[in-house]
Amino acid sequence: MPKCPKCGEEIDYLIGYYRYESSNFLHMIDGEPERTFRDEATYLEGEDEYECPLCEKVLFDNEEDALEFLREKRKRRRCKKGDE
Ligand SMILES: [Zn+2]
Repeated sequence: MPKCPKCGEEIDYLIGYYRYESSNFLHMIDGEPERTFRDEATYLEGEDEYECPLCEKVLFDNEEDALEFLREKRKRRRCKKGDE
């Protein structure tokens, strides 16, 4: 299993965050603010974050590196099979 470089614990998954930007219309209706959605949220490219589920430190900022890290697990399993 790959180890978290921050806390040294073995982890087999990461917590991924995607950032979206959304816009809306802000009205005053009977003296109360009211928002209505203007359009669908837009994905903000390049602002992903992948955290360790144990220490919650950000380990990666893109999916490619995060997947590369998680693939470690498979690579090592394959090596073990070869040794047996
Ligand atoms: Zn960690």
